[in-house]
Amino acid sequence: MQSIRKRLGIIIIFCSVVAVILLGFLVNLTVNGTFNKYMVNIQNQRNNRIVDYFQQIYKNDKKWTINSGKEMMHEAYMSNYCLTLLDINKNIVWGMNPNDIRETSHMMMQKIDSNRGAYISKSFQIKYKGKIVGYVVIGQYSPIILTQQDINFKMSINRSIIISIMIAITIAVIISIIISKQFSEPIKSVSNTSVKLSNGNYDSKSNIKSNIKELDNLTRSINILGKKLKEQDQLRKRLVSDISHEIRTPLNILQNNLEAMIDEIFPVNKERLNYLNEEVIRFGKLLNNLNVLKQFEDEKLNLNMKTIFLDKLILSVSNKFSIDFKSKNIKFDLNIEKGKNFQIIGDEDKLKQVFINLLANAIKFTGPGGTVCIELYINKNKVIAKVKDNGIGIKKEDLPYIFERLYRGDKSRRETEGSGLGLTIVKKILTLHSAAIDVESTDSIGTSFTLYFNRNRNRRISDE
Ligand code: ADP
Repeated sequence: MQSIRKRLGIIIIFCSVVAVILLGFLVNLTVNGTFNKYMVNIQNQRNNRIVDYFQQIYKNDKKWTINSGKEMMHEAYMSNYCLTLLDINKNIVWGMNPNDIRETSHMMMQKIDSNRGAYISKSFQIKYKGKIVGYVVIGQYSPIILTQQDINFKMSINRSIIISIMIAITIAVIISIIISKQFSEPIKSVSNTSVKLSNGNYDSKSNIKSNIKELDNLTRSINILGKKLKEQDQLRKRLVSDISHEIRTPLNILQNNLEAMIDEIFPVNKERLNYLNEEVIRFGKLLNNLNVLKQFEDEKLNLNMKTIFLDKLILSVSNKFSIDFKSKNIKFDLNIEKGKNFQIIGDEDKLKQVFINLLANAIKFTGPGGTVCIELYINKNKVIAKVKDNGIGIKKEDLPYIFERLYRGDKSRRETEGSGLGLTIVKKILTLHSAAIDVESTDSIGTSFTLYFNRNRNRRISDE
C-alpha cells in the first residue's frame, strides 16, 4: 500500500508532466507549422521572381540563347535549387545538374531530418504577350529549403521548448512535494491518533494545524472524540464502582445484622427487623430506578402527550413538598409571571417526575434556614422554569457529569441518600419533550437549574 503523500505526489507530478509535454508538443507543432508556411511563402515569392526574371529576358531578346538568364545559376547554387530553361517545345536551352547541389542539400537535410533524398521539380510557364514562350523548371531536394540560419532558428526554438519543459517539470515536482505534504501531514497525524485511540490510549492528541478547512475540522473532531472517549471511559469505570458500592452497602448491612442476629449478638426484635426491611426497600428503590432508566434508554417509553399548563403542574408538585419544606425549615418561593399562558405539549406524569426530582434534590442539598425558589416566565417562544436553591452547591469538576447515570457529587455528598439517577431521568424526560436543561452552581453558594420548553403556539390565548 502507498502512503497518501506518495500517491498525491505521483498524481500531481504525472498530471503536470503530461500537461507540460503536451503543451510543449503543441507549441512545437504550431511554431514549426507557422515557420514552414512562412518558408513556403518565401519560396513561392522566389519562384515568381525567377519566372518574372526570365520573362523580362525574353522581352528584351525576343529569343532564347544558351546564356539567357544564366546569371541566375549562381544564386541557385548558393540557395540549393536547380534551374533548367526549356524553349517552347520543351527542349533544354540550358540546365543545371541536380547532382551539383545534392551534397550540400543532403547535409542540410540531415540536420533537420525531414523528407530526406527525394528530388522534386516544378515547371513554370514563361509568357510573352499572353503566349507561352518557354518553361523554367525549378528543382530541389526538399519541399522547403532551409538556410543554416533558418535551421539554427528552428533548433533554438526547440531547445527553448525543451528547457521550458524541464523547468516546468522541476517546478511541478517541488509544488507536488509541498502540496502533498500539506495534505498528508494532518491526515497522517489524525490516522496515527485514531490508531492510538482504538488501542485505548485516550490521552493521544493530534497537534497539527492545517489551513485547509476540512482537514482542520478533521483534526479538531478526532481530538474531541478522544476527549469524549476518555470521559466516557472514566464514567464507565466510575459507574461500575458506583453500582457495586450502591449494591454492596445495603447488602453488607443486611449480612452483618443477620449474622449478628444468628450469633445472638443482636436480639431479633421488631425494631431491628424494620431497620433491615428499610435497607431492603432502599435496595429495591435503586433497582426500580435502574429499571426506569433502562426504559428511557431503550426508548420503549410511551409518552401520553397532551396540552399541559406548566404553572398548574408546578403548583401541584410543590404542594406535595410543603411538609418537607416545613420539617426541614426551608423557605419556599414560587414566582410565576402574571398574565401569561404557560401552555406546552407533554406527558403530565413524566413532567411531574422532572419537578419532583429537582425539588427533592433542592431540599436534600439545602440545609435548614435555606431557600428554594421556582420561577416561571416566558421568553420569546420558550416557557422557562428555574429551580433555585442556596444549598451546598456543586463543585466545578462535578458539574459536567451530574446528568450521567449514577453520578453523584464528591464523597461527602454520598452521605446523603440518593441513587445518582434523578437528574439522568430528568434529562431523558426533557429530551423526549425536545426541552433543554442548563445548570449553574457555585460550591457552598447554591444551585440553579433552568428548563426551556417549547410553547404550544397552536392554542395561544390572547392574554399577551
Ligand atoms: P442523587 O440521587 O444523588 O440526588 P441526582 O442524579 O439527582 O442523584 O443528582 C446527581 C448529583 O448532582 C448529586 O449527587 C449531587 O451531587 C448533585 N446535585 C443535584 N442537584 C443538586 C442541588 N440542588 N444542589 C447540590 N447538588 C446537587
